[in-house]
Amino acid sequence: MKKRVIDAHLHLDSGIEGPAINATQELNNSLAQNNIEKGVVLHLQVQRWPVEEVAEALTSSDRLVGMVNVHPFQEDAEQALCYGIEELGFIGLKLHPRLQEYPIADPRVAKLVGLAGEMNVPVVIDAFPDGDWLMQGFDPLDYARLAKACPNTRIQIAHFGGQRCIDMMLLAKRLPNVSLDLSFSLLYFRGSSVVGDILYGCKSMGYSRVLYGSDYPDRSIGDSLNGSLVEFEKADITGNDLDRLLYANAQEFYGWSE
Ligand SMILES: [Zn+2]
Repeated sequence: MKKRVIDAHLHLDSGIEGPAINATQELNNSLAQNNIEKGVVLHLQVQRWPVEEVAEALTSSDRLVGMVNVHPFQEDAEQALCYGIEELGFIGLKLHPRLQEYPIADPRVAKLVGLAGEMNVPVVIDAFPDGDWLMQGFDPLDYARLAKACPNTRIQIAHFGGQRCIDMMLLAKRLPNVSLDLSFSLLYFRGSSVVGDILYGCKSMGYSRVLYGSDYPDRSIGDSLNGSLVEFEKADITGNDLDRLLYANAQEFYGWSE
């Protein structure tokens, strides 16, 4: 049977010239070529396209939905989230504390994440502890406290917490509103023990609340999917467990279950 796949972590490629529609079409074609049914595009304020243009471009594809990036410290953060969801058609909120350099322990973060919960839309938060994020004070506990403070908000912790994957997994087990995505980390850490730890984490979670993602354009859609399938196969993840990682858990998290 053909594998059904949802990619829960994508960006538009700002290396593609011209308006956002160009990058959107390129992404849509790439997903189609790889039989990926749906993709979640994470808007980024650092990219050159205005948020309205990104929203408009995403409507050109049945395959794509978007999460709007808001900085919790911007004065109009709450209005920006409401505008993104209600007017522009985004389906959730993207937070990038590493790139936008703010501590997630700040009460303004919980306020915005709580509002997303009230609006019944999910939140994706970057959690890749690279050198910058480590020096800014990355701590898995801050994610846990945030999830605990916002129990009605579905939170997707991106990149599985990178090399802190075991801590993130143990915390996620105590936080029913948290899911983890596999993007970037699973392939970035190939050749290290972290890959085994991430896959152990998937198993330990009973293959629930873990979502496949590529973090395209960091790596191509095809390379990411094929590379990930190799790692799943090496770890003997097959059948229903594999389906949950690639498809069913995302269906559930995003509320798309048929
Ligand atoms: Zn990303």
